[in-house]
Amino acid sequence: MSHPSRPATVDPAAVPVTTVQDATPAMQAAVKQDFIRQIVRDDLASGKHHAIRTRFPPEPNGYLHIGHAKAICLDFGIAEEFGGVCNLRFDDTNPAKEDPEFVQAIQDDLHWLGFDWANLRHASDYFEVYYLAAEKLIRQGDAFVCDLSAEQVREYRGTLTEPGRNSPYRDRSVEENLDLFRRMRAGEFADGARTLRAKIDMASGNINLRDPALYRIKKVTHQNTGDAWPIYPMYDFAHALGDAVEGITHSLCTLEFEDHRPLYDWCVDKVDFAHSPELLQPLLASGLPNEAAKPRQIEFSRLNINYTVMSKRKLVALVGEKLVDGWDDPRMPTLQGLRRRGYTPASLRLLIDRVGISKQNSVIDFSVLEACLREDLDAHAPRRMAVIDPLKLVLTNLPEDHVETLTFPNHPKDESAGTRGVPFSRELWIEREDFAEVPPPGWKRLIPGGDVRLRGAGIIRCDEVIKNDAGEIVELRGTLDPESRPGMEGANRKVKGTIHWLSAAHAKAAEIRLYDRLFAVADPDDESEGKTYRDYLNPDSKRSVRGYVEPAAAEAAPETSFQFERLGYFVADRRDHRSDAPVFNRSVGLRDTWTTKG
Ligand code: ATP
Ligand code: MG
Repeated sequence: MSHPSRPATVDPAAVPVTTVQDATPAMQAAVKQDFIRQIVRDDLASGKHHAIRTRFPPEPNGYLHIGHAKAICLDFGIAEEFGGVCNLRFDDTNPAKEDPEFVQAIQDDLHWLGFDWANLRHASDYFEVYYLAAEKLIRQGDAFVCDLSAEQVREYRGTLTEPGRNSPYRDRSVEENLDLFRRMRAGEFADGARTLRAKIDMASGNINLRDPALYRIKKVTHQNTGDAWPIYPMYDFAHALGDAVEGITHSLCTLEFEDHRPLYDWCVDKVDFAHSPELLQPLLASGLPNEAAKPRQIEFSRLNINYTVMSKRKLVALVGEKLVDGWDDPRMPTLQGLRRRGYTPASLRLLIDRVGISKQNSVIDFSVLEACLREDLDAHAPRRMAVIDPLKLVLTNLPEDHVETLTFPNHPKDESAGTRGVPFSRELWIEREDFAEVPPPGWKRLIPGGDVRLRGAGIIRCDEVIKNDAGEIVELRGTLDPESRPGMEGANRKVKGTIHWLSAAHAKAAEIRLYDRLFAVADPDDESEGKTYRDYLNPDSKRSVRGYVEPAAAEAAPETSFQFERLGYFVADRRDHRSDAPVFNRSVGLRDTWTTKG
């Protein structure tokens, strides 16, 4: 991991003010002053904790998206910065929706982002502990078996303005509850016939405390435990106890769990592993250490980005309805999609740093995400030339067999990136849009009879425009000014424009996928006027064209990013790119074209 660990206490006044762009990784860590890191600092300074433990708890029911990256950077980042550890815990308490495919993909995504976990756990590792904890609650009179149907439970629950009513089963004896709960566990009852509920307060202003369910009957095969369990713990119970079992010090989650915090604390306090070590016996038997401690839940605001959807339900539908080409479609906000689009781990971490951590809900403009990628690629991506919409240019004053290799720097601002050879010959491809027969005002590129500089090769003049019978331009003929060649006296002669080019004989034909934002509107979640996100899809979000790239781009390994000069940032497609059949995805343009669209 890249961030060095550093002392637990930092005097904010002693931290130099710096921007993310010019900071070293250590300085970047030092400038993070959000309220969660402040709590962690205080807890270390006061001696409340001597070591930090966090966890990232995804439910394996889908692929990770960019919103998850915020939680990941926070959970793993804090552990890293404060010399602690972070666990990866799959919250697999809902077997009907979960799948080992997602378990693997989530691990791959975390590694790709550059994080590693101290321990890989599943909530299902603790099913036996949860069960013993539930029996303890029953014995304490803190839980009861309820026979109300789901619908009746809703009726009894009350509303935001009215208190709920006690279940008629609330006063069952401990013996009866224990007997019924054991029979639930033995599989004697049908799905939904009974629940185990916490006995808290049906009049609480917080509906989560109105005797919430702790266990439900669900005879579904689980991806880890098979058919061993006909009952499954509810999220709030499992999550709180999972944190406690692992000795998580700071349990970081998004704001929608704020109202669940009293229940979280209730579960942790009532079960109280510190005074009931026998509950942890099953863990020790299965080789897991006893690390139980009292965790503290802290909430932060979710990452929201416009021009995209992040709900798993909608992402599943986009894939299922074939509105995109799978989970890793380069237009998807999944980490797999972003990766295939050419987003780098550094660009995503930069985004999360920029957005910061707070309790304020906000929507981040998509252009901020794009700017982070541009910033990373501008600094690190080698330059290449490519022609997306080719027009032939023949330099008539060069011999038919003229071939030379020009030396180009790989990066204009980074000499250490080295140089490469680019073949130059008599017949070239240039970009069709770099020529105008009738130029608009302010035109700086090629016109009939005009001059333009070919990047790194010299200045040419357009002598002749050749058209087909339909009147379309099919070829330009021109001459290269020999005095303007690199190293010659006239090399610095002023001309208005510089264009890129490729030697036609050497260029490699390539598929170039021109991606744009998946949605055409800022808020695709807007369901007014009966619309859904399906109605807001951007019809121009994917265009595939045949173009050409220079040999040094074609030869690149999949997932290599380049700046194609004057065109934007492109990445060799992870799945489809081959040197003999290159495929490049446009990751992002050279500048923001959306904010100016109005
Ligand atoms: P769902 O519960 O609808 O299946 P989820 O997005 O909550 O989806 P989880 O797998 O439960 O998915 O999320 C794992 C962690 O990621 C949780 O701690 C959650 O709070 C966090 N997370 C999810 N979405 C975002 C987001 N947009 N911004 C920040 N954190 C998020
Ligand atoms: Mg969730």
